[in-house]
Amino acid sequence: MRVAVIGAGIIGVTTAYELASDGHEVSVFERQGTVAAETSFANAGVIAPGYVTPWAGPGMPGKVLGHLLSRHAPVRLRAGHGAGTLPWLWKWWRACRLRTYQANRLRMQRLAFFSRARLHSISQSLQLDYERSDGYLVLLRTPRDLALVQPGLALLNPLTSPFKLLDAKQCLAIEPGLNADTPLHAGIHLPDDEVGNCRQFAHLLRLEAQKLGASFRFFTDVHRIEPGTPPRLVYGQAQTDQPRSKAKKTRPFRNDAPDTQFLPNEPVTEVFDAIVVCAALGAGALLRPLGIKLPLLAVHGYSVTAPLRHNDLHPQGPRSALMDERYKVAISRLGNRVRVAGSAEIGGSLNRHDEATLKTLHKVLHDWFPGAAQMAQAQVWKGARPMLPDGPPVLGPSGQAGVWLNLGHGSSGWALSCGSARLLADQVVGRTPAIDTEGLGIERVRG
Ligand SMILES: Cc1cc2nc3c(=O)[nH]c(=O)nc-3n(C[C@H](O)[C@H](O)[C@H](O)COP(=O)(O)OP(=O)(O)OC[C@H]3O[C@@H](n4cnc5c(N)ncnc54)[C@H](O)[C@@H]3O)c2cc1C
Repeated sequence: MRVAVIGAGIIGVTTAYELASDGHEVSVFERQGTVAAETSFANAGVIAPGYVTPWAGPGMPGKVLGHLLSRHAPVRLRAGHGAGTLPWLWKWWRACRLRTYQANRLRMQRLAFFSRARLHSISQSLQLDYERSDGYLVLLRTPRDLALVQPGLALLNPLTSPFKLLDAKQCLAIEPGLNADTPLHAGIHLPDDEVGNCRQFAHLLRLEAQKLGASFRFFTDVHRIEPGTPPRLVYGQAQTDQPRSKAKKTRPFRNDAPDTQFLPNEPVTEVFDAIVVCAALGAGALLRPLGIKLPLLAVHGYSVTAPLRHNDLHPQGPRSALMDERYKVAISRLGNRVRVAGSAEIGGSLNRHDEATLKTLHKVLHDWFPGAAQMAQAQVWKGARPMLPDGPPVLGPSGQAGVWLNLGHGSSGWALSCGSARLLADQVVGRTPAIDTEGLGIERVRG
């Protein structure tokens, strides 16, 4: 089959790889100059399937309201959100009901565990090295923090997510670089969870997809999908902020091939047997004209990444991934760098950075690993999570012949990517997927 994939974030790249490995002729369309240039660029990198749960859960509305008033709030509501925000919040509030939460949590976990297995199988067979390390440590500063996570712990299946409750001394044995002066009541260690560089993985997998014949068409904006049997794609040159020559020079990955085609000024129309929309927040504009309305909302988050110091005078950084449960901030080891990431900002814009949020990230890193990173060289990033109100992504047929969806992975797109891609590739050819896909289809969220 000739298959078009729209979007080369982690979801589009894994989808392209799975489709190409099934023998399809795959073309990936991406408006940016390379893969993983938007939300998949600098996320926290955590893969903790047991912790992949909907944001919409019992008690969450109260927690969010409480957070809004605090100085280091993990959730912030900004002015300037679009008309879709209030309907989205209403759907989110309704999805907080216990039974809806339980159903969505089950769907997400099923996908997350399958996805981790698929990630391991791909990275082992292709020998991909993407700055990964094992283990996830949740830091609980006070007895109250511990009490608040107890209901979540009760839901963890010890067979699939083995975990240990640790005291402060035991936490220090797992992460010897932790600052012993910052009060720590307890920790939860999940040895089977992991952290890895999502962007690096996307670059490596893109090369593997290319070896299988997939082509990547960068700086190419998909204008619209024309329904029909087969469907058609209309695309043209993307309007980018920076000139192409500059974008190429600044590419940090040695193996990055340049954009693979020159486009005329006029839009091009091309027919495909199947079109898979992996365009995250860009999907709304492509799907609305087809009568498909999805409640996708941008929930912004930040990360700060800095090189670790390497000398005996300074304490070491983290060994793997940690989560400061009080501030909902992740600290990740990525090769020779440390990344601190968090915040959920509803509204606002990608270009405007919130100083208070960045202060919280710096504070958490300083609390736990003071002096470990060269903060003068820190890179700040803001990304937009493509969130559906109730949690799971949408994957499978769109309802329009030949048009498929793999999007809305919210705060867990890296953790869910490899599994989502495999399921989608199976569905496209009518093969029975390896896990139950109940509730992952468009029927769940169709507006
Ligand atoms: C601060 C932060 C921390 C996070 N931490 C984690 C974590 O620890 N673990 C985890 O699993 N997830 C995490 N996430 C979430 C994860 O990053 C996202 O779920 C994931 O990157 C979404 O991938 P995607 O491919 O759907 O979207 P994107 O990476 O945004 O890719 C979509 C692509 O589609 C392209 N596109 C859109 N429209 C068009 C069009 N019309 N034509 C051509 N191209 C188009 C865009 O240019 C873009 O490249 C985090 C997110 C944030 C913000």
